[in-house]
Amino acid sequence: MDYKTIELPADKSIALVAHDNKKKDMVAWCKKHQSTLNKHTLYATGTTGSIIEKEAGLTINKLISGPLGGDQQVGSLIVEGKVDFLIFLWDPFEPLPHDPDVKALLRIAAVWNIPVACNQISADIMIASPLFNETTPRSVPDYDRYLKARTQ
Ligand code: PGA
Repeated sequence: MDYKTIELPADKSIALVAHDNKKKDMVAWCKKHQSTLNKHTLYATGTTGSIIEKEAGLTINKLISGPLGGDQQVGSLIVEGKVDFLIFLWDPFEPLPHDPDVKALLRIAAVWNIPVACNQISADIMIASPLFNETTPRSVPDYDRYLKARTQ
């Protein structure tokens, strides 16, 4: 794979996803970092986003609920470059009907090299980083070269 460097912008588009047993943790984290999160564009799967809006007072672009395809919508936004940061509090103790979507979302986040936090402590450390509010170089697959190499 050929890569190119783009910029992870200072104004980030952050997707928030929490499984049911992790929704309280997500709300607590959002309340704790409300003033920082307010400065960025926020997306979330349906139920997570509705609860965050109600309890943490943040404005969220809400997708459909995770089990109905919301995780895949987040993945699609990552591919399109519209989401560049993921807080994904997935539940390590419960099998879920949409486990394949969970794996797919984590894979696509790795493919497109976006920062991912899967627990509160990682999210705390990432949001405390000076890089959180700055631009940072980000290496991503060079799709033009990928396509050219396969169509020549
Ligand atoms: P939800 O989806 O926010 O709609 O609950 C999260 C998930 O289970 O992926």
